[in-house]
Amino acid sequence: MDTQSIVILDFGSQYTQLIARRIREQNVFSAVLPCTASLAEIKAYSPIGIILSGGPYSVYDADAPDADPGILDIGLPVLGICYGLQFIAHHLGGKVLSADKREYGHAEVHIEDSKTPLFAGLPTTLQVWMSHGDEALELPTGFHRTAATSNALAGIANETRRIWAVQFHPEVHHTPLGSQLLKNFVFGICGAQGDWTAAHFIESTVNSIREKVGQGHVICALSGGVDSSVAAVLVHRAIGDQLTCVFVNNGVLRKNEFTQVTKNLRDKLGLNLVPVDASARFLEKLAGVTDPETKRKQIGREFIAVFDDEATRIAEQTGGVDWLVQGTLYPDVIESSSVRGPSQTIKSHHNVGGLPETMKMKLIEPLRDLFKDEVRRIGRDLGMPEDILGRQPFPGPGLAVRILGEVTAERVAILQEADDIVVNEIKTAGLYSQVWQSFAVLLPVRSVGVMGDQRTYANTCAIRAVHSEDGMTADWVPLPYEVLKRISSRIVNEVRGINRVVYDITSKPPGTIEWE
Ligand code: GLN
Repeated sequence: MDTQSIVILDFGSQYTQLIARRIREQNVFSAVLPCTASLAEIKAYSPIGIILSGGPYSVYDADAPDADPGILDIGLPVLGICYGLQFIAHHLGGKVLSADKREYGHAEVHIEDSKTPLFAGLPTTLQVWMSHGDEALELPTGFHRTAATSNALAGIANETRRIWAVQFHPEVHHTPLGSQLLKNFVFGICGAQGDWTAAHFIESTVNSIREKVGQGHVICALSGGVDSSVAAVLVHRAIGDQLTCVFVNNGVLRKNEFTQVTKNLRDKLGLNLVPVDASARFLEKLAGVTDPETKRKQIGREFIAVFDDEATRIAEQTGGVDWLVQGTLYPDVIESSSVRGPSQTIKSHHNVGGLPETMKMKLIEPLRDLFKDEVRRIGRDLGMPEDILGRQPFPGPGLAVRILGEVTAERVAILQEADDIVVNEIKTAGLYSQVWQSFAVLLPVRSVGVMGDQRTYANTCAIRAVHSEDGMTADWVPLPYEVLKRISSRIVNEVRGINRVVYDITSKPPGTIEWE
C-alpha cells in the first residue's frame, strides 16, 4: 500500500471504530485489524504507527485477547488506549491488577510530563472519559508516569522505545481535547502528512482498478442506493463501458423508483445500465409468505437467480464477465473480523455475497475501507448529484419487510402511496437529510373508522423516523406534531385502503429500525 496508514488493533472496545474515524478526519488513513492479526498482516498496511484499543477483558484473564507482543519491538511508535495501556504494561514486565477505585465516566487528569510529545499543546488539566476497573500498578522498566487522576495512573511513556499509553479514551466526544492528543500522536510522533483526501483516494482507486481489470469485463448489481452507485461511478471512471450495471426491479421498490433510478443512473451518471423488471417473479415467490426471515431469504435467493440470468446474458455478449463490483463498506468488513465472538443474527442480510462463488467472478470492492460519510464525500468529489448521495438507507428486501404479513401487489401499491407521502412531507419540512430513515409500515391490522358518514374497516399504517450514526443503534425522532398531522391526514385522505395512522416511538435496541 502506498498510502501512509495507522493500524489500530482491536481488543473488542465499543469505541474502536471511533479511533479510526478520529484519525481519518485528520486526512490520515487508518485500518482496524483484529488484535490477533499477524505481524505480516500488520506490515502489509505499511503503517507509520500502531494504536492498541480498549477492550472488555482484563489482561490477567485466562481468555484475555492477546496480540503478538512483537508489535512493541518493530520500531514503530505505539499508542495504547485503556486496555492497550494495560497490555503494554503486562507484556513488558509491569503489573496490572483490579483497582481499588474503578473509574467510569467523566474524570479530571493532571498531566505530569507536559514535555512528552503526546501532550504537546495540551493544558496541564484535562477533562477526559474513563471506563476501566483495572490499573497498571507497577510500570515496566524504562517507563514513567506521564499523567494521573486523583485516584489512579492515567498515562505512561517510554520515549526511547517510542511507546505511549493513556488510561482514558481520547477518541470519544467526552474527552474534548482527545482529537488534539491523537493528532499529536499521528502527526507529531508518527510523522503523518495528512494527504489522504477524497481526491487522493479517487485517483489511487481508479488507477488500481484500471490496472487490475485490464481489458476484462465488469458487472455491478446496482440498487440505486448511495454505496452501490458510488462504487459503480468509481469503476466507470476507471474503465468506462467495460462496466455493465444491472438494476433489478424486485417488485418491492418505492413508488416510481424503478423508472426514476434508471433515469438518474443513465442520464446523470452516464452508466451503462440494464434495467430488469422482475417484479412478477419476485411477487410469485412471496405469495403466501408471512414469516420475515423466509421473506428475506426468498428475495435474496430470487435476486441471485435474476442476476445470474442477466450476468450469463451479458457474458455471452461481451465474451465473458470476469469481475463483480460490490459496494461493501468498512463497518461490514470490521464486523466480520472483530475480536468479539460470533454475534447473534438478528436479521439475515440481503446482499450479493453468494454470487462470486457460484459465478466464478473476482470481486472489486472499492469502498471496503470507507465509512458511509466518507463514501458520500467521495461521491461529491466525483460530481455525483446530491439527490443520489443524500438518499436515506433502504433495505435490500425493500417494502417487503415493511408490509407485515403477506406481500401482494395490492398491498405493495398501498404502501408505496403512503410511503411517498411520508417521504415528501419530511422533505417539505426540511427534515429529510437530518433523519437517518423515515418511512411508513403497513400493518396486518384492520380497524373501524368513519369516513363521509360511512363505516370503514381498513388497514393501519405506522410511521417510523429514526436518528442513527451507523444503523447499529437508533433513537426514534420526535417529529414535529405539525408534520405528523399533515402526514396522517394526507395518508387517510389520499391512500385508499388505510384509515388509521400510528406513530412508532421505539428506539433500537430494543426495536430494530425496520419492522421485519
Ligand atoms: N477491562 C479493562 C478494565 O476494566 C480495560 C477497559 C477498557 O479498555 N475500556 O480496566
